[in-house]
Amino acid sequence: MISPMRTLLRSLLVATLCLSSSCETYKRLNFYSEQEEAQLGEQAYSEILQGEGKPLITSGANYEMVVRVGRKIAAASGANYQWEFKLIDAPDVPNAFCLPGGKIAVYSGILPITQNEHALAAVMGHEVAHATEHHGAIRMSQGMVTQLGLTIAAAGVSMAKMSDEQKMGVVAALGAGTQVGLTLPFSRDHERDADIVGIRFAIRAGYDPWEAPKLWERMNQLGSSGPGWLSTHPDPLERAEKLRQVIPQILAEEGKLKNP
Ligand SMILES: [Zn+2]
Repeated sequence: MISPMRTLLRSLLVATLCLSSSCETYKRLNFYSEQEEAQLGEQAYSEILQGEGKPLITSGANYEMVVRVGRKIAAASGANYQWEFKLIDAPDVPNAFCLPGGKIAVYSGILPITQNEHALAAVMGHEVAHATEHHGAIRMSQGMVTQLGLTIAAAGVSMAKMSDEQKMGVVAALGAGTQVGLTLPFSRDHERDADIVGIRFAIRAGYDPWEAPKLWERMNQLGSSGPGWLSTHPDPLERAEKLRQVIPQILAEEGKLKNP
């Protein structure tokens, strides 16, 4: 459990030491243990799955692909999570998420854009990277020293004790769910980190990383008819270009450069 008093004291300390959001201590601020994160992730997962009330797809080629990619990315991440993979039947939702503790959901609306297993691996790698890099917990911790967080902190890590507003705050901070009406982008730093760490996971899992920049170029072509969240996220063409720059280096680091 997170003690509200302990959290308050630490928040005040960080606020004193760290007067700007570019401060390194602030950037890595995380009040949650892995266990607490996983607990919140699991609760948020059932909140989202029940709250959205969308049917799950539990068989067929697409479901098998999501589980296959998920298992390979999970293994490549090296994280010791209680992994779960769900394919949600939502053709109008081009999105995916991974909550802390390895609770993954892919909405079926992303599949016409990913088009192939390699690009899906890039998407799932990116989402898993947000979890393994603790981006959701960091965002919630930063919220504690800024506006929203102390009430969430006071409720500890049990969503059962939270108001609906607090629950939505947690779900949004963890980067998941559509019921809040928008998907909050992580910071530009966290999005960039997730792209890079995620493509490393995809490479390690045996997927072709060059499908990732192509995916971002397809997203860009969709323009305003594409996913609504695109407008609040880093420019897809910039992401494609950055990936093209880093892929050769990551392939080399992973010992895959000479493979076809
Ligand atoms: Zn992201």
